Amino acid sequence: MDAFKQINDLREELNQYNYQYYVLDNPAISDFDFDQKLKQLEQLEQRHPEYFDVNSPTQRVGGAITKNFETIAHQYRMYSLDNSYSKEDLLEWEKRVQKGLGDVAVTYVCELKYDGASISITYENGILKRALTRGDGFQGDDVTNNIKTIKSVPIQLKGDYPAYFDIRGEIILPFKGFEKMNQDLIEIGEAPFSNPRNTASGSLKLQDSAEVARRPLDCLLYAITGEQLPFETQFEGLEKAREWGFKVPTIAQLAPDMEAVFAFIDYWDIHRQELPYETDGVVVKVNSIDHQQELGYTSKAPRWAIAYKFKTEQAETVLNTISYQVGRTGAITPVANLEAVQLAGTTVRRASLHNADQIEKLDIRERDSVYVEKGGEIIPKIVGVNLELRPKDSVPTRYIDHCPECQTELVRKEGEVQHYCPNFYGCPPQIIGRIQHFISRKAMDIEGLGGETVALLVNSHLIENYADLYQLKKGDILHLERMADKSADNLINGVEKSKQIPFERVLYALGIRYVGETVAKKLAQHYKSIDALAQATLMDLILVDEIGDKIAQSVVDFFENEHNKNLIERLKNFGVQMTMEAKESTVISDRFAGQIFVVSGVFERFSRDELKQLIEDHGGKIGSSISAKTTYVVAGDKMGPAKLEKANKLKITILSEGDFADLVQA
Ligand code: AMP
Ligand code: ZN
Repeated sequence: MDAFKQINDLREELNQYNYQYYVLDNPAISDFDFDQKLKQLEQLEQRHPEYFDVNSPTQRVGGAITKNFETIAHQYRMYSLDNSYSKEDLLEWEKRVQKGLGDVAVTYVCELKYDGASISITYENGILKRALTRGDGFQGDDVTNNIKTIKSVPIQLKGDYPAYFDIRGEIILPFKGFEKMNQDLIEIGEAPFSNPRNTASGSLKLQDSAEVARRPLDCLLYAITGEQLPFETQFEGLEKAREWGFKVPTIAQLAPDMEAVFAFIDYWDIHRQELPYETDGVVVKVNSIDHQQELGYTSKAPRWAIAYKFKTEQAETVLNTISYQVGRTGAITPVANLEAVQLAGTTVRRASLHNADQIEKLDIRERDSVYVEKGGEIIPKIVGVNLELRPKDSVPTRYIDHCPECQTELVRKEGEVQHYCPNFYGCPPQIIGRIQHFISRKAMDIEGLGGETVALLVNSHLIENYADLYQLKKGDILHLERMADKSADNLINGVEKSKQIPFERVLYALGIRYVGETVAKKLAQHYKSIDALAQATLMDLILVDEIGDKIAQSVVDFFENEHNKNLIERLKNFGVQMTMEAKESTVISDRFAGQIFVVSGVFERFSRDELKQLIEDHGGKIGSSISAKTTYVVAGDKMGPAKLEKANKLKITILSEGDFADLVQA
């Protein structure tokens, strides 16, 4: 088959799978199969740069860097919406609509108001041409590269679409993805994001589109603008958009009168809690486009639509004290300790204050009467102060300048909002936090040892760092509170067992700033041993795939530190894994010496890694792509046709899984 056709077929196929997965929420193939096909396409595209296409599904992973976002005029202005807060407001609006249209029957469409960042995307001949932020409504910023990485945004439309139009929608970050992102951030010692909406809108302006691609953003569409559009009502427009491949929530409903509008509002005021993303109200629109045109616009909003804002549940209570927590990385988080109050079905005693700026901005003080609200986040936040109830002798909050735990002077880096305690090796919560991280499930997974016990061990001066864990004796810990004979055994055994944990997890456990699970894996695979990694220069590190400046610098700093060098030396001596499974030492024969193997496809008997291991164990080398130097291709199921073709052309012997097994055993 000719390569061009093959590439196009694959692109179409992958677009369809993306659509089924991200728009319909109904995957048609396994993730594994999808990845295989995507890889196949990537390889074909690499081999045929002449068929490069910015709209290929391979480009969804991003990579384009935008230094300055160009400001571009909207072809059709992006209006704002008038707000209403009560049913009376809505009845007033209905009167104005009726007055504007004369005595005709008016149908309304009710939609949810998604809380994210608005976007306008232009399609020309069915291809995504440009995406602009709202900006001031007349002109916005060109964020096309970033929008293309959002997989529910179609790059090529389907069906009978108009030649040219804009579609408007909201870029959102669903709760689940938001929470996962925050977990990952906390894990590597970075400050979490404060809410999904700001994170979504901040994501649009990231310079590195690959970073945007990693964020689980979504795009919900709600309006089409253009000339000679093939529908006469808003509701039909939504249906058409769906047909062309856009993600348009099916929650939208027609309402013959205001009674029906109210019913929609009442229903969703409660049930929005069950939605996977944040909404802040309902948008009511006049359904007929003719009617819309007749009603027109005010200077800033359409007369044919209105937003009804849900009331966010608020409670008022007294802020007793502000306390400051010190995290594992030394980051300081101010916390408001409140007089207990009921809010959205739970009792609230604490609220997050985020950082010094936030406190200053709202001028929050101890003994103030404050308003608390629950957003998408788990911990409620303070949204304002009831100044009328402020005590007369109240004084502005002075943010602490010394660590509440170790009294070291705090620092705040240029451009960062968080204060830090720089006493990395002497500040108790940092010491305890690092050891707790070290023993956690995804790190060394030390059974029989919990976070509380770690604190107890540190406070009893039995350990000062994670290496000390390996020196603990049963006798040392038996006298500790609640430490029975059996639990002491469990602890010692758990520590002993952790010596089997593979290197990549040890690397993660060390708690190097910005080195999360994925980065640890990458570094372990690349450097294979702690010694090699410790010797890497900043430049070496930056050249490793997916390792940026910030991570590289942090790794270099970590290994330059004497304290850390010492810890690692000790861990090594205790027998903790500091290299990838020793490979050289397992060489079984030199049967494959001088031979180069390319492994491709899926296998039944061996995993790919096992296969590669076997080849190396017998002295062979693994090649990454088929070339004239290749000795054998080991072909599994679903090996790409292009590879097969190439192997045949170069007359390279192709081995099946069985052939290979015979060869090894021969
Ligand atoms: P506002 O920002 O308060 O002026 O509200 C207008 C914004 O609401 C629009 O710019 C959209 O970004 C957003 N919005 C969210 N959902 C919808 C919807 N279903 N219809 C229209 N606008 C919506
Ligand atoms: Zn401190």
